Amino acid sequence: MSDIIPNESHNSLKIPALLHRLLGEQFPKEAARIEAGLLCQRRTTLRVNALKTTAEAVRETLSSHNIAYRTVSWYHDALILEGEDGKRAVEALPLYERGEIYFQSLSSMLPPLVLCPKAGESILDMTAAPGGKTTELAALSEGGVLITACEKDKIRFERLKFNLSRQGAGKVNALHADATKLDDFFRFDKILLDAPCSGSGTADALNGTFCEKLLSSCVKAQEQLLKKAIKILKRGGTLVYSTCSLLSCENEALLSRVLKGTDCALSPIDLKANGDLPLLESSAGTLTVLPDEHFEGFFVAKIIKY
Ligand code: SAM
Repeated sequence: MSDIIPNESHNSLKIPALLHRLLGEQFPKEAARIEAGLLCQRRTTLRVNALKTTAEAVRETLSSHNIAYRTVSWYHDALILEGEDGKRAVEALPLYERGEIYFQSLSSMLPPLVLCPKAGESILDMTAAPGGKTTELAALSEGGVLITACEKDKIRFERLKFNLSRQGAGKVNALHADATKLDDFFRFDKILLDAPCSGSGTADALNGTFCEKLLSSCVKAQEQLLKKAIKILKRGGTLVYSTCSLLSCENEALLSRVLKGTDCALSPIDLKANGDLPLLESSAGTLTVLPDEHFEGFFVAKIIKY
């Protein structure tokens, strides 16, 4: 028997049977919408790199090259490209080579906004490559935060360093290390844990790799990383945990198991974007973004250490 469920809305992509079952169990009323969102073609989106230019300058350049775009109500620096060929057209512009923009999904712009970096803070980006969120954190604070960006995989670490340099993110200490092995004596004001995950909210879930084994290895890694994050977060500090998965075993269930008995707790998310996001029902302190034409499926949680 085939392990995939054919979906009429797209010719070649299919929802894996395991994911179909898990989504149906967790979101009995929304599973069909989620699957349709996973299968649909997403628009290319980008973030203007405020370390190097302004949103106005980038918009002007795109308009002068007849590259159609739309703005995003909740983030001045985010743009949605309208045309089929928008990405290729932007890549051909000098502003791309100069690191004045970064292609990034809208959902993946949310964790740094929730972490809300402020000048003078020390921030750990625990699992940082290729660096979209690291450079966003630097840009949001106008280069005013000291960021330690940790990445375990050597090839991805090199990509991180390349992106940091191209984006002009100077005050970043890039660390090629396993974040679960960081010294317990470290202390950070804020931590971003954008954890390795099954990718169940993205097109990656459709590429044939989604399986029980992947899911359990992700949950194990997420648990170890989260435990370390809790240890090295300053008292009064904020931790943002995010994944591009919709599954509770990687998100809510994991958080409630790991946070239990610690001095950390979920804290309400107050974000300008809230009213404009396609959200699934989310418990306090979390956001679960429904995948659609503009957004990848995504989970973000804000945690405070008391
Ligand atoms: N935050 C990144 C961005 O916005 O560009 C994406 C991060 S990706 C979801 C997760 C990353 O975690 C991968 O690059 C993976 O190699 C890395 N990783 C996995 N386990 C790790 C560990 N124990 N320590 C450090 N990095 C790890």
